[in-house]
Amino acid sequence: MLSTSIALNRVTESATLKMATLSRELAAKGVNIISLSLGEPDFSSPDHIHQAAIDAIKTGKFDSYSPVTGYLDLRQAICTKLLRDNNLEYKPENIVVSTGAKHSLFNIFSAFINPGDEVIIPGPFWVSYPEQIKYCDGIPVYIKTTVADNFKMSAAQLEAAITPKTKFLVYSSPCNPTGAVYTKDELAAFVAVLEKYPHVHVVSDEIYEFLNYEGKHVSIAEFPSMKDRTIVVNGQAKGFAMTGWRIGYIAAPAYIAKACEKLQGQVTSGTNSVAQRATIAALTGSLEPTYKMREAFKIRRKMVYDLMLEIPGFKCTMPEGAFYLFPDISYYFGKSYNGQTIENAEDFAMYLLNEGHVAAVSGDGFGAPECIRFSYAASEANLVEAFTRIKNACAKLV
Ligand code: PMP
Ligand code: GLU
Repeated sequence: MLSTSIALNRVTESATLKMATLSRELAAKGVNIISLSLGEPDFSSPDHIHQAAIDAIKTGKFDSYSPVTGYLDLRQAICTKLLRDNNLEYKPENIVVSTGAKHSLFNIFSAFINPGDEVIIPGPFWVSYPEQIKYCDGIPVYIKTTVADNFKMSAAQLEAAITPKTKFLVYSSPCNPTGAVYTKDELAAFVAVLEKYPHVHVVSDEIYEFLNYEGKHVSIAEFPSMKDRTIVVNGQAKGFAMTGWRIGYIAAPAYIAKACEKLQGQVTSGTNSVAQRATIAALTGSLEPTYKMREAFKIRRKMVYDLMLEIPGFKCTMPEGAFYLFPDISYYFGKSYNGQTIENAEDFAMYLLNEGHVAAVSGDGFGAPECIRFSYAASEANLVEAFTRIKNACAKLV
């Protein structure tokens, strides 16, 4: 039997995908599971996006390999989007289109991390950042934040984490899993720190840009001193309900884009041609469906937050973006039901799955072992039923 690589042995399985698989398996056995585990919109991609893909197939013109970095007109559409929505000026040579934002991130880390390089990750963070970094032999340097800090790092925490070995700072805003959104002032405070340490580059994951319920999205790349030191990561999955289409992209200084192109050219080549054509329609077409989806999530956000407050011991911030609730549930640690004691968030997630038939993801993989993540990208009826089940399951724990 083959032994797996040292690089792979450093990596933990994706906590989000693991839970999604587990809940699918239970559902296949006939158990009535409500899955609040995987973060994906429960909407279809808008009609004009479907239509663009159908049209692209029918022309028969997109059956061949696409350019490694993506079609030129798609990269132009991405530049137009970045100017329209983010006031950021890029040229097609700054853009690399990949097979999802996850792939874009992996390109960056693989292309630039050397053994021992440090990457600062404010926690709670999305599960794949540290695992990809470890795969590349980098060292994740975590900054801990909690409900009490509204899950936001301070400029002082950032500065304290920087060393001569720091290569990147990576974060998502709006944040998966907490829903925290950094304001322009908060970003300005980070910029003031980063200006003192020009060797540190930023990977700014903006995939939840369109799911911001309180204000306008701000990218750290908008600060002139940061533009050449920032890699903006974005994609179609969340704002356009296109998770399965697998389109992500970066906007970055040309030499960074070139490095990602070189790697991608040896690994996946250009991403799926039809999905790229559909993405042009998404980026140049009406944003009305995106705004409607955001409104629906905003209503659900308030609904699930209120439902959650009815459950004793859940401590949570009101998420400002994305579609997750991330309560601290440590109140239940040490409590038992039927001879089973909840020692940690993993036990709590398994208890909710087996006793309440609700799938959620333990906070461990997100760097918050006192928390649990619920996705509210589910129908209102399912959310009401799920939180009734959660409340009942929690009531049994003494
Ligand atoms: N970043 C964050 C913060 C995410 O939540 C996700 C989830 N999918 C991704 C990146 C990856 O997105 P994609 O589906 O485009 O690979
Ligand atoms: N990003 C989503 C989540 O956090 C999808 C799953 C994944 O790619 O991790 O649930």
